[in-house]
Amino acid sequence: MSAGSFRLYIGGEWRDAAGGQRFEVTNPATGEVVATVPDAGAEDARAAIEAAHGAFAGWSSLPAHVRARYMRKVYDLIVRNVERLARVLTEENGKPLAEARGEVLNGAEYLNWYAEETRRVYGEVIPSSSRRTRIWVLRQPVGVVAAITPWNFPSSMVTRKIAPALAAGCTVVLKPAEQTPLSALLIAEIIQEAGLPPGVVNVVTTRDPAAVGREFLSNQLVRKISFTGSTEVGKYLAQGAAAQMKRVSMELGGHAPFIVFEDADLDAAVQGAVISKFRNAGQTCICANRIYVQESVADAFAERLVEAVRRLRVGNGLEDGTSVGPLIDEAAFIKVEEHVSDARRRGARVLTGGHRMSGPAFDRGFFYAPTLLDQVSDDMRIVREETFGPVAPIMTFRNEDEVIRRANDTNYGLAAYIFTRNLGRTVRVSEALEYGMVAVNDSLLAVPQAPFGGIKESGVGREGGRHGLDDYLEYKYLSVVLDG
Ligand code: NAP
Repeated sequence: MSAGSFRLYIGGEWRDAAGGQRFEVTNPATGEVVATVPDAGAEDARAAIEAAHGAFAGWSSLPAHVRARYMRKVYDLIVRNVERLARVLTEENGKPLAEARGEVLNGAEYLNWYAEETRRVYGEVIPSSSRRTRIWVLRQPVGVVAAITPWNFPSSMVTRKIAPALAAGCTVVLKPAEQTPLSALLIAEIIQEAGLPPGVVNVVTTRDPAAVGREFLSNQLVRKISFTGSTEVGKYLAQGAAAQMKRVSMELGGHAPFIVFEDADLDAAVQGAVISKFRNAGQTCICANRIYVQESVADAFAERLVEAVRRLRVGNGLEDGTSVGPLIDEAAFIKVEEHVSDARRRGARVLTGGHRMSGPAFDRGFFYAPTLLDQVSDDMRIVREETFGPVAPIMTFRNEDEVIRRANDTNYGLAAYIFTRNLGRTVRVSEALEYGMVAVNDSLLAVPQAPFGGIKESGVGREGGRHGLDDYLEYKYLSVVLDG
């Protein structure tokens, strides 16, 4: 396979799309074409599902330690190829190379961790109601999983789905985002090199997600849809999956509150806000979207945060020293501009940034200056909707009750952050926040051993930890009459 021209990975073979069409993948920092990939349709998706179904019996019946060995091999190969994977990730997504390396390695850890967990898919023996009967509970893989991933973490969202699926004994058809399909195809190359049986993992790239999605939803061989992306598409897929009662895991949008109390270590809070807000140019589902600072420390916090944000260096992710890359595309850019202009119109003040980056280094990409706003009110779009860009609104609050009410006043419920040194407050506020994850004096929230996921309209199910494995397993209740 040449570097710039990829094919679909179906049943252990590299194929063109049945319709012969291809599409271009471009670098959001430069507009240059990085590679072309096949434009799969329903027919290709069906072939991939059938390949996954064909591989299921063999894969699911392998002893756990054998499946684990394959998974560790994939992990080792990803780690060995981290530089190539990270570079391609930066070229297709735009994030700084150091972040791309971190994503590839963090994503690989899911394979390592779930390889271990493969051995711990335990059943149960339950006391029965009679002497003659035994009750056993088996845990079995759900079957073929159709996985759909977004562009903001092109590598780790893939491994975060594949790893628990493989550990449980499931086989997978993966549809990566059309803007960033290359990381997934490189992982497929590695899966092939690691010797996984044909059909265990299949990858179909497409610019017609609706056609492939419809095949995933309507094909009876698919028993689970695992989706990461927007709440809107997640709801559509969950409704579609209901027609055949397919299992679903939904990792959807977020609108994270980032709360700084007056007793916080302000420097730590500033550092946390920079990481949480500006990582991946603010295009993460868990990034701080609403910064609430207690009145008495608001000015000091804002002053230090402005200083820290002005030090961020915007540029091409492949260049040394870049801390913030471009936005993924024009549509993302327009949304950010609209949120900032709506806030300005309604009285917000720009503390820093608030404009498109211009000049020869920026003109061919989608670069927006890291931006802080204050004098923000709860009716602004930026406080109601996910911005998905490098813009942070800063608001003040008086007391715990008020900030909890405002933080929970959203349909999203993915991640929340609090900065405080008071133990009682930590417990009270974390318990009251209606979110699937709460970080206390911390700004990063994705490790293989913990259950990542949201409540409310941020999703159902968890990825990571033993909880993430449960989502790929069914219970089977066996009632055995001994002298029957
Ligand atoms: P998106 O538009 O929902 O796309 C996500 C994936 O769904 C892409 O692969 C996309 O394909 C596919 N898709 C779109 N329409 C589809 C359809 N009708 N049927 C089947 N698949 C379809 O989301 P996005 O803008 O790429 O990603 C950003 C969103 O993801 C944000 O809301 C973010 O918060 C969320 N996210 C959540 C998590 C989490 O763990 N909770 C993690 C990361 C991101 P195309 O690329 O071809 O459009």
